[in-house]
Amino acid sequence: MRRNFSGIVLSLAGLLFIHLACNSHAAKSSRSSSGDSSSITVVIDAGHGGRDRGGIPGQRVAEKDMNLDVALRLRNVLSASGYQVIMTRSTDVFVSLAERVAIANAYRNAVFVCIHFNATGRSGASGIETYFYSRDSLPLASAIHYYVAGGAPSDNRGVRRRGYYVLRKTSIPAVLVECGFLTNPTEAAYAQSASYRQRLANEIAAGVRGRNSVGRGFSTTRVATAESIPLQPYIDQTKVSQSSHGKSKRSHKKSARKKKNSSKPAGSEARAASADREG
Ligand SMILES: [Zn+2]
Repeated sequence: MRRNFSGIVLSLAGLLFIHLACNSHAAKSSRSSSGDSSSITVVIDAGHGGRDRGGIPGQRVAEKDMNLDVALRLRNVLSASGYQVIMTRSTDVFVSLAERVAIANAYRNAVFVCIHFNATGRSGASGIETYFYSRDSLPLASAIHYYVAGGAPSDNRGVRRRGYYVLRKTSIPAVLVECGFLTNPTEAAYAQSASYRQRLANEIAAGVRGRNSVGRGFSTTRVATAESIPLQPYIDQTKVSQSSHGKSKRSHKKSARKKKNSSKPAGSEARAASADREG
C-alpha cells in the first residue's frame, strides 16, 4: 500500500515535471520578436549546394534543396526579430567548406548555424541530432537542439560533439543541426512539407534566441556539459578541403554516414574512434 502510494506520488511528480517542461517550452517558443537580437550576427550555412547534392547516391529528396529552404526561412524569421543575418549561400550554388568558414570568421559577435538533413543506407534510421565542437558552442547547440528536437515529431538523437571542418575552423560559436533523415520515408515526407520546414526554422530561431538561457535552466539534468559529451570520431576534412572541390563534400558526407551507421553500438563507435582520429 505504502509502495503504491509513493508510486502514485512519483507519477504525479513526473506529470508535473512534464507539464512544467512543456509550458516552459511553449513559453519560450512563443517569445518571438523580443530577446537579445541587439547586436549579434547570425551566419546561416545551408549545407551542400550546386553540384554537391548532399545525402547519399540515389537519394530521392535532394538534401541541398531542403537545407536551403529551411535556411531561407530561418533567415526570414531571424531578420524579422532584428538579427543581422548573413547567408553562406542563398541560391543553389556550390560553396566550399573553406569559403563557408571564411564567411563566418569575417564576423565578430556572431554565431554560425549549419543546416543539414541526414542520410543513411538504413531507411529505419531517424531523428534529430545537433553537433558542436568548441566549448563556446555548447550553449547554442543545446538550445537549438532543445527546441528542434522538442518541436519535431522525430526521435531525439542528442547533442553530439564532432570535429566537422566547419565547426572546428570557425572562430565563433558554431552548430550543425541535422534536421532528420531524408532516407527515412516518414521524415522525408515531413521535410517535403513547407509547414514542417517553417516549423524547423522557427525552432532553430528559438534556439538562437535562447542560446544563453536554455542551458542555465536545465544545466544539471536536461542539457549535457562539454565534459559529458565525448568527442566523436571523424575523418579530418582539412586535407580534403584543400583540394576544394566536390570531392570534399562527398567525403564529408561519407564520414558523417559512417559515424551515423556506427553510432548505435558502443563497441563499433569506440573502434571507429581509434581508427579515425585526426592525424
Ligand atoms: Zn549534409
